[in-house]
Amino acid sequence: MTEEKRVALVTGGSRGIGFAVARRLGADGFSVAISARNADGVASAIARLQADVPSGKFAGMQADARSESDQKALIEFVGQTFGRLDVLVNNAGIGEFESVETLEPERFRAVVETNLFGPYYATHFAVPVLKRSGGGFIVNIGSLAAVNAFAGGSAYNASKFGLLGFSESSMLDLRHQGIRVAAILPGSVATEFGHSHGNRDHSWMLTSEDVAEAVSDLIRFPDRAIASRIDLRPSRPPKR
Ligand code: NDP
Repeated sequence: MTEEKRVALVTGGSRGIGFAVARRLGADGFSVAISARNADGVASAIARLQADVPSGKFAGMQADARSESDQKALIEFVGQTFGRLDVLVNNAGIGEFESVETLEPERFRAVVETNLFGPYYATHFAVPVLKRSGGGFIVNIGSLAAVNAFAGGSAYNASKFGLLGFSESSMLDLRHQGIRVAAILPGSVATEFGHSHGNRDHSWMLTSEDVAEAVSDLIRFPDRAIASRIDLRPSRPPKR
């Protein structure tokens, strides 16, 4: 990523991994746009990002990953605000963890629409802007749940297996146009995600900053190379 390429969009950037990625890319010199469903969450995240990285340029917009029109408007907002787009980080995601027997259809749909349709919409609308900007990077925040199924994961596994396939296929579609696509598959990260980590000891888990570092490193690879999938594991999980 050369010096003049400097605008990133991080979906779900109001907290957790997305916030850490936005802060890291801001510190790396990118102008950064974020999105989330909750407008107050976006506004307070922008204030915290600006306080943490005073030299950074940050902007945000309320936009639901499940909504085609919101994602179209989000990409337009980035173009209007910063004039270009170089890095799209598809991070917004939710989890529902329950047996397929009792998981209600609307909760299954919400997971798949957020975690899979969301990245598709953002990618689809971002590609022309990335091309106009001379190429760029799309980073899909997947999960090791994209390759390891578990009980209670029917919606989440389906969405993340799907996202990995989407990521690899878009990589093949877009690489000839100077757009590199990669998936990062983290193991457990200490965030508020799905309240799934409960009161467990978090000390062995990855941090949001670990994932942010992976994003920052990935987009600095030489133009010739794409690390199209990174499995990011905690070094010392509890022994089973
Ligand atoms: P958090 O719950 O901490 O943050 C999720 C972010 O996404 C928030 O900013 C949230 O804001 C936003 N978001 C959720 N739904 C939508 C939506 N429909 N439209 C727009 N924004 C949305 O989660 P994490 O930071 O932990 O997770 C981020 C990503 O990392 C997800 O894709 C997750 O699957 C993945 N991941 C997480 C792991 C973990 O252990 N935490 C492990 C592996 C992968 P708002 O609620 O206001 O919309």
